[in-house]
Amino acid sequence: MSPRPAGVEDAQWRDWTWQMRERIRTPEALARYVRPTEDERRAIALLGERFHFVITPYYASLMDPDDPDCPIRRQVVPRLAELTDPSGVADPLDEVAHSPVKNVIRAYPDRIAFCVNNECALYCRFCLRKRMVGDEEWTMKRRELEAGLDWIRRTPEIRDVLLTGGDPLTFGDDRLAWLLEALRGIPHVEIVRLGTRLPVTLPFRVTDALCRMLETYHPLWVNVHFNHPRELTPEAAEACDRLLRAGIPVGNQSVLLRGINDDVATMQALCEGLVRMRVRPYYCYQAQLLEGTAHFRVPIEDGIALFRALRGRTSGFAIPLYVLDTPHGKVPLTYPHVRGREGDHVLVETWDGTPWRELNPERSGGGA
Ligand code: SF4
Repeated sequence: MSPRPAGVEDAQWRDWTWQMRERIRTPEALARYVRPTEDERRAIALLGERFHFVITPYYASLMDPDDPDCPIRRQVVPRLAELTDPSGVADPLDEVAHSPVKNVIRAYPDRIAFCVNNECALYCRFCLRKRMVGDEEWTMKRRELEAGLDWIRRTPEIRDVLLTGGDPLTFGDDRLAWLLEALRGIPHVEIVRLGTRLPVTLPFRVTDALCRMLETYHPLWVNVHFNHPRELTPEAAEACDRLLRAGIPVGNQSVLLRGINDDVATMQALCEGLVRMRVRPYYCYQAQLLEGTAHFRVPIEDGIALFRALRGRTSGFAIPLYVLDTPHGKVPLTYPHVRGREGDHVLVETWDGTPWRELNPERSGGGA
């Protein structure tokens, strides 16, 4: 880890507004934390405008200054490899086509993702929404947020609303409270979820005042996005703890990333570290066929083998569900532990490969 720069007081460092103002946007600013390689410098120059290069000082302080393959650094510092991927597309989940109004994405009958802003504390190089995050065109004006809320009011099937973005916690407390108040005023909205990476990338955003406000809008759930055990810092643990103490269940959604978390030991350390923080590993996503991200993608067979290997090695609830997101919803990518049937027995395979025959009579013909 890099130390925080000389001259920065603890109070400044822990002030989330200071962190947002002082975000790193140039190779020169990055050089206060790491020694950028020539590849990184050129990639920042060539890619900075296409997909913004922005990092919080806090997250930069987690980087290894001398190792360009540092798993923190690789998530947020551009590489020239982003320019040589011919395979990806801009919107692999066809989210624009699934939007009845701007930034409301509906892939299921009863729930939506509502992208309430286009701003994040930093920009992850593998971001599914890199087509919109940091892009002015996707800024949500107040009247556009109202249009999304109106659509939800007029659509009584929607019982579950995920506020995402960008990152909804980059809003100030007042704006977020206004949005939550409006959603809570819609009788058919049973639960609200927040998808945020700020507890990972800017944990000081999770203030006591924010949590006091959030807990007035229950039932509220939060999903965070840790990808590597090195992100599980005391500051991040405190942020999650504040959310949990406000009565908010916290789950984690990670992305399987080549060279970052695609080996059993790293994934196990991540999941067990999350559980120690009382954060439930929920999903691990297969990285999408997204432009500029081929160097991050892991073959699905390798992902299935990885999560197969975790089974039996750690607590069941420490193992997230490995999923592929598609324009038609999520698909679990699981090892087939059920191996077939022999007469009245179903054949299964236990965690250590032991075959087991479970008596399970065939369905009788007449039953419902
Ligand atoms: S924090 Fe989430 S939405 Fe923002 S750039 Fe990273 S992955 Fe994308």
